[in-house]
Amino acid sequence: MKILVINCGSSSLKYQLINMENEGCLALGLVERIGIEGSKLTQKVNGNKYIIEEPMKDHTDAIKLVLGALIDSKHGVISDLSEIGAVGHRIVHGGEKYAGSVIVNDKVMKNLEECSKLAPLHNPANIIGINACKALMPTIPMVAVFDTAFHQTMPEVAYIYPLPYELYTNNGVRKYGFHGTSHKYVSDKAAKMMGKDIKDLKLITCHLGNGASVTAVQNGKSVETSMGFTPLEGIAMGTRCGSIDPAILTYVMKELNLTVDEASDLMNKKSGVLGISGISSDFRDIEKAAWEDGNHRAQLALDIFTYKVKKFIGSYAAVMGGVDAIVFTAGLGENSPETREDICSGLEFLGAVLDKSKNKVRGKEVEISTDDSKTKIFVIPTNEELVIARDTQGLVK
Ligand code: ADP
Repeated sequence: MKILVINCGSSSLKYQLINMENEGCLALGLVERIGIEGSKLTQKVNGNKYIIEEPMKDHTDAIKLVLGALIDSKHGVISDLSEIGAVGHRIVHGGEKYAGSVIVNDKVMKNLEECSKLAPLHNPANIIGINACKALMPTIPMVAVFDTAFHQTMPEVAYIYPLPYELYTNNGVRKYGFHGTSHKYVSDKAAKMMGKDIKDLKLITCHLGNGASVTAVQNGKSVETSMGFTPLEGIAMGTRCGSIDPAILTYVMKELNLTVDEASDLMNKKSGVLGISGISSDFRDIEKAAWEDGNHRAQLALDIFTYKVKKFIGSYAAVMGGVDAIVFTAGLGENSPETREDICSGLEFLGAVLDKSKNKVRGKEVEISTDDSKTKIFVIPTNEELVIARDTQGLVK
């Protein structure tokens, strides 16, 4: 079976067509600037690029072009859309309703609409993506795979905020956690690499990309995670501030006379390592400024980021009463040996000893702890699309 995986953002769309017989990626692509001037589709097949630049007024237009690119006689990888067995959609927020993936029906669509209140920046785009696919492929089953689902196993003590309890019961204010498919994928992989049953392991998985989160995975279940009610909580990220004293918000709103939207923008888009460094949200730019130009604020941004991750690792080891392995994944976790070294320095008290020469690696699935390190350290490239495709296949088979 071939599964199309769709990850729909407000003006962009990522996709992969996966052949489930060997779990290989047949084609992957990105559509940018949907509904904005300069719309562009880039599809890659075996490293060869196929680019379409033409106006796309909405997501239906974008998905039409995606399907056209997949069946294109010269650049495509299938001859007919009927070869697509199902479509798996990445959905950011499933609220408390979904602890696993589901086949999309009218009731699911209604629930997704309700969850939009919890994720106004993400869920509406995800819903548009499903509707556009349904319109163009009415007979092909659609599956929703949630970023929040893996974290539904967290205990109450982890997910209830110390606010009036009615905010939870009446308004759904609780910790949900995100990046669930990634944390699940790399924790399963780590158990396999250790030759152990995940049910016997305490793992800390660090998804460090533009968005970043750390999760404590005990006996195969998420028991605590750094992102919260929204993806804003936790570590300082590319542009998000992560956890701060909540009183800063009301103070800054008053001092700078900010509206609610402006304050949200400040915390979500202007903070994190971008805010600290004043240079970029991309860690490559910040590393360059810090190491080649000796820029203090760039170095400070890197130091604050690694310090926050280290604090989460320490606290999650305390939450689980130990840790058997620490896993690094996503853009920065997979590709920045320096970041991993900074985070792991001082973690020897947890039995985690980094092997600096093994750590000189990018984007490979590999153990990077010393042979006698009691706690193992791994780099494991994430593959959220594959988790989505596997779940989708499992449900429609
Ligand atoms: P997201 O999916 O959240 O957009 P990614 O997981 O793709 O993010 O990670 C993007 C981040 O990873 C960027 O900030 C980028 O700078 C960082 N990154 C990617 N490659 C490298 C590298 N070689 N060295 C340092 N940072 C890197």
